[in-house]
Amino acid sequence: MESTRILLEAHEIPTHWYNIAADLSSPLAPPLLPDGTPARPEQLAAIFPPAIIEQEMSVERWIEIPQEVREIYRLWRPSPLVRAVRLEEALGTPAKLFYKYEGVSPAGSHKPNSAVPQAHYNRQAGIKRLTTETGAGQWGSSIALAGQMFGLEVRVYMVRVSYGQKPYRRLMMQTWGAEVFASPSDLTETGRKWRAEDPENPGSLGIAISEAVEEAASRADTNYSLGSVLNHVVLHQSVIGLEAKKQFDRIGLYPDIVVAPCGGGSSFGGIAFPFLGDRAAGDKRAKDLRAIAVEPASCPSLTQGRYTYDFGDASGFTPLMKMYTLGHDFVPPGIHAGGLRYHGASQLVSRLYHEGLIEAVAAPQRVTFEAGVQFARSEGVIPAPESCHAIRAAVDEALKCKGTGESKVILFNLTGHGHFDMSAFERYFAGGLEDFAYPADAVERSLAKLPRLG
Ligand SMILES: *Cc1c(COP(=O)(O)O)cnc(C)c1O
Repeated sequence: MESTRILLEAHEIPTHWYNIAADLSSPLAPPLLPDGTPARPEQLAAIFPPAIIEQEMSVERWIEIPQEVREIYRLWRPSPLVRAVRLEEALGTPAKLFYKYEGVSPAGSHKPNSAVPQAHYNRQAGIKRLTTETGAGQWGSSIALAGQMFGLEVRVYMVRVSYGQKPYRRLMMQTWGAEVFASPSDLTETGRKWRAEDPENPGSLGIAISEAVEEAASRADTNYSLGSVLNHVVLHQSVIGLEAKKQFDRIGLYPDIVVAPCGGGSSFGGIAFPFLGDRAAGDKRAKDLRAIAVEPASCPSLTQGRYTYDFGDASGFTPLMKMYTLGHDFVPPGIHAGGLRYHGASQLVSRLYHEGLIEAVAAPQRVTFEAGVQFARSEGVIPAPESCHAIRAAVDEALKCKGTGESKVILFNLTGHGHFDMSAFERYFAGGLEDFAYPADAVERSLAKLPRLG
């Protein structure tokens, strides 16, 4: 009997992250201030340590992973690459389906891959406290874990709708020593403003980011950390795809299609960019590679957004970034995939999408759970609602192979397990899970408020 799990040894954890900025045809459009002038690195120094700012701007292809970070990665990395043989059988597809399982981290998702280096670089810079935002609680729990490992205090602004839906994630963060508040909160100017407008505001990642940034900018001992979107986060997540490449080498295969959910874009970039780097380097195996980012139909920044300069947060604290956006004050419906409720997408992912180098699809909520349940019933692992988006698209591609008889190799990022999301499954089984219509009017209103430069 052949093994379905392709495992690596600790010494095979990559020694360097891969930076796709080195392989773009021209540099990324620079982040801008609202007056249209480029943001200067010093301006980021109020909230980020020097090493992170350097990585944010870097066009070096390979960036060394600090030894201390690799030692913590070793607690759960290398993560397994698994061939989903039983799912293939259930689908009756000739495709070969593989998933890279990031749910083996202590926090249960891919997010500690970036939380750990971020905590490391902040401690190195003498920082004592970190603030951050969290949607479903995945990033908050990851930074709580990483902060604990490096002796940093952590304060988390948790999107209010998730704070109510996911009490156990809050308790995880508290177990790892973090303070957690529902956002919008009464602790910041931003939070008080939004609550004055609407006390029932369900919150959004954009608002929570504003609160965390406001606090970090106002205290010298405190920095901010972001769980996705920014270039350095995408860089750190490349450890996923780099390991997957070694695992495919081991079995002499190479993916035709790479699929990942897309919230801010780091888990997608993390798994797909190392393969796209092969394509950029002229590797024949990657010539026809397709990379598919899967977003929720109710928050479809790539497939319905505009490619333009917008703020990264809801209140306009961050510099403007060129990205696909639904407008910074768009508040998406309260879907259960809280980690995918972000109004924009990573500048790197946006740029590649704009150039036609990657694909994007939008999936409505119910069919993602349908695919997630089918996955759980054949492979055992209960996926996070965000991960269900990738499963949906991977299954759809596998079903297409059934029509054509092609045995494509499909890799998807199983970004996390759903152990703290069982109430969403309960709703799904009870038939109570909504498919929110694409909120066209709200997006149009929000796009009308895009910043005008200069
Ligand atoms: C946060 C999260 C995502 C979304 O990741 P991005 O990098 O922001 O696109 C996907 N899956 C899980 C399990 C998450 O926690």
